[in-house]
Amino acid sequence: VFSRADLHIHSTASDGKCTPRAIVAKAASIGLSIIALTDHDTIAGLEEAQAAGILHGIEVVPGIELSAQHEEVEVHVLGYFIQPHKKELTDKLEILKRARQKRALTILDRLQRLGLSIDWSQIKKHAAGEVIGRPHIARALVEAGGVPSVKAAFESYLNRGCPAYVPRYRLTPEEAITLIHKCKGAAVLAHPGQLPDLSCLGPLLEFNWQGIEIYHPDHSKEMRVALEGIADSQNLIVTGGSDFHGKDCGNRNLGACTTDITAVEMLRKGCQQR
Ligand SMILES: [Zn+2]
Ligand SMILES: [Zn+2]
Repeated sequence: VFSRADLHIHSTASDGKCTPRAIVAKAASIGLSIIALTDHDTIAGLEEAQAAGILHGIEVVPGIELSAQHEEVEVHVLGYFIQPHKKELTDKLEILKRARQKRALTILDRLQRLGLSIDWSQIKKHAAGEVIGRPHIARALVEAGGVPSVKAAFESYLNRGCPAYVPRYRLTPEEAITLIHKCKGAAVLAHPGQLPDLSCLGPLLEFNWQGIEIYHPDHSKEMRVALEGIADSQNLIVTGGSDFHGKDCGNRNLGACTTDITAVEMLRKGCQQR
């Protein structure tokens, strides 16, 4: 039997548009045998997804995607087979959530001072889950008529260097990896193709990763080949996933990129020994 695993999926628990339940149903209907829910900085969708997994007969790997920063570079850290209720993790996620909330309020304050008519309830409405981020603020700005598009909201107000930009509290990649290890999980470097360039990879590879995400919709064939060489030389498990955020998300359809089942088993085995 041809079986496939999509190990990179976002739900309404973070910035995705589909509920965990709907994602699992869809994954089962297209023949995926394993998925991992990897919401940004939250485990809030895992319980619902796992219950739905039992119902639909597919395995839901408990996962997370932690945002980290190495010097000026944003680095995403995927965690798989985590024990999500470990106190170290839930405490840290709570701190991140509060920092994010405070940041969103500061951005709102700046936008209001700039004369834009937007309030907290409008932003909240766009954040169905618990994690409030700039995309939600951008969508609220569009709705309020302040800007023509989400892209324009970022370019005029929200990006670094713009008048409503507020820096964010972030973990370092090492902190994120350690946190994942503390809850018995495997740490995988997400979409290295999104780094400014591959020379950033060198220092990052010094950390204790178990795997590297090579099959991602944003990666070109050349990128894949380059990363396969790196994974091979560094002895890293090769993973893949769609980075699905909901319907109408271009090439990031559920199952668009997948992980070999043997790689999933290697991740699992490593975690059991942790
Ligand atoms: Zn990411
Ligand atoms: Zn992602």
